[in-house]
Amino acid sequence: MKPRPSFPARLDTSNDSAKPKALLGATRVVTPQTAMRGPAQVALASPTGVGLDSSAVRRRMVQKLAEQGLQDTVVLDAMGRIERHRFVDSALVNQAYEDTSLPIGLGQTISKPNVVARMIALLREAPGLKAAPMGRVLEIGTGCGYQAAVLSLVAREVYSIERLRGLHDKAKENLRPMRLPNVHLMFGDGMLGYPKGAPYSAIIAAAGGEAVPQAWIDQLAVGGRIVAPMQTTAGQQALVVIDKTPQGLQQSLLEAVHFVPLKSGIA
Ligand code: SAH
Repeated sequence: MKPRPSFPARLDTSNDSAKPKALLGATRVVTPQTAMRGPAQVALASPTGVGLDSSAVRRRMVQKLAEQGLQDTVVLDAMGRIERHRFVDSALVNQAYEDTSLPIGLGQTISKPNVVARMIALLREAPGLKAAPMGRVLEIGTGCGYQAAVLSLVAREVYSIERLRGLHDKAKENLRPMRLPNVHLMFGDGMLGYPKGAPYSAIIAAAGGEAVPQAWIDQLAVGGRIVAPMQTTAGQQALVVIDKTPQGLQQSLLEAVHFVPLKSGIA
């Protein structure tokens, strides 16, 4: 395993603001259960506010992801490098590294770490994307900007679009101090994709609709992959993977998930 970078031991809560509660984002990871090689062994430390040694709790989170079956070391490394506590309200900092979704304001949620990691790992498993890093990635639903930050470590360029002005602004604020030059945040309706950045190697949605919009398929490069939550015929939500191959589209339906709804228009 690669040596892990060091992290500031202090917790910066300057970006925090009051946010309403929401209860979404549960899922089950069904990746093949092959053992990870040597995840870091760390003592369980609880974040306690200012003075939090966030690197230790983050290593513990990464260790759990590996134990749950996530094998992609590039994704595990990225999850270990992005400080999730910087993206949540100060009242929720204690839960920032637990495998739980958390409210981020305006009725939306940041996904569970294992869902974020699982979806990014799925993108990287596409036959056309195995030679990391990925090229341009489009994220639908910036939310607080956490997943965009993780994506910035595994893709050359990240275009992330959000339909709620308040969250678009919040993500900008959250990401500014991190100085990630390859993350581009847009305010707009992601159901239309973002044609200016197309074609994309990968498209990842953080909100679930009844179908994958045609615009996403049109803006996907040949060899690219879409990973998105989608309504199934049984009325539940599941992850769908769509590959655009030279022979046409290939779709597979994976595990059940629970994402906020994909909505059209801006607000
Ligand atoms: N990836 C985010 C998760 C945010 S939750 C994170 O790391 O925090 C999903 C987000 O999708 C919400 O902020 C919601 O407003 C947004 N969303 C829903 N429909 C959308 C659309 N059509 N275009 C852009 N964003 C959308």
